[in-house]
Amino acid sequence: MDIKFVDIVRQYNHYQSEIMNAIELVLNKGNFILGEEVEQFEDSFKDFIGCKYAVGVDSGTSALLLSISALNLKNGDEVITVPNTFISTAYSISECGASVKFVDVDEATQLMDVEQLEKSITSNTKALIPVHLFGQMVNMENILRIAKKYNLYIIEDVCQSHGAEQNGIKAGSIGDLGCFSFYPGKNLGAFGDAGMITTNNKELYEKLLLLRNYGSIQKYFHEIKGKNARLDTIQAAVLSVKLKYLNECNLIRNKIAAKYSQELQNVGDIILPVILENNFSVFHIYCIRTKKRDELKEFLLKYNIPSIIHYPVPIHLQKAYSELNHKKNDFPVSEKLADEIISLPIHPEMYDDEIYYIIQTIKKFFTNKINLPL
Ligand SMILES: *Cc1c(COP(=O)(O)O)cnc(C)c1O
Repeated sequence: MDIKFVDIVRQYNHYQSEIMNAIELVLNKGNFILGEEVEQFEDSFKDFIGCKYAVGVDSGTSALLLSISALNLKNGDEVITVPNTFISTAYSISECGASVKFVDVDEATQLMDVEQLEKSITSNTKALIPVHLFGQMVNMENILRIAKKYNLYIIEDVCQSHGAEQNGIKAGSIGDLGCFSFYPGKNLGAFGDAGMITTNNKELYEKLLLLRNYGSIQKYFHEIKGKNARLDTIQAAVLSVKLKYLNECNLIRNKIAAKYSQELQNVGDIILPVILENNFSVFHIYCIRTKKRDELKEFLLKYNIPSIIHYPVPIHLQKAYSELNHKKNDFPVSEKLADEIISLPIHPEMYDDEIYYIIQTIKKFFTNKINLPL
């Protein structure tokens, strides 16, 4: 068995002719930069999310960076996020010269702890970046209430939650800005790097159009200083094809997650993912916890089952952020999780026998480690 954590090639084979046609159309037009396919994809993506505007960019990291820039956050401004996220969330803040401030997460959901969030707000706090981790949304009612009370911007990090919902409302349509990544392994993945920013705010939308394109709309006339962070036309064409299947793919992920959860409950000391009642998770990641994490990971690898730790070191303990002078135990929940979490393969093209094989192997690990045949 050749199980991949995410099987991008198998996925491509699924949609091959449709995708190749879309790419060929672009190749024949040669409109590689801001071709009409970019706007078409932005249009369908904003409709999918249920917001007014969408701006295609060249990565999720750029989406976050441009969002912070668009809000004019800089020196002395505090932006609050969580330590158990991908590095880009923090990087976007520090890169703009604003201050990264962390709050710990809730142990059950692994999402931003809203009580602690409110306690850590100061007069310098200007924005919040809730991270919809693993496919599940942070409780946005609470985030909105706090943001309103303290007059803070909200940037949703939706890089892992394309299509996730809370009370029927999609991630990326609630905050001032929503940031998406289309890195190949995400629920909606390009054939390279790509990203998107969503918003309901016309002013921010217009500023983002400038910020991603050298600060200009009309060539060689620059309204503001801006970088080159555009979404490629070819990537937009590929993403337009794949967007049509995203709902279906997210449902398949849910079925796989349900199978895992059904079979792995009461196995060893495994703690299953907790999905809150009003949430529809899109299970970008299926993450379980066990005290025997390292042994399990090694065991799975022996049976050719890849697994990943999302993430092994919380950002406050990363070397890159030693300047923040954090120490062990500053965010104990995130640190505890980092020692216990392990993400199992999940992607829409998985075969039933692959899922079954993974489940059996995990059961084998917890029942009889040595010589039970599969
Ligand atoms: C993937 C990811 C990013 C970064 O997106 P890129 O497209 O890789 O730059 C940011 N935040 C989170 C939570 C992510 O998972």
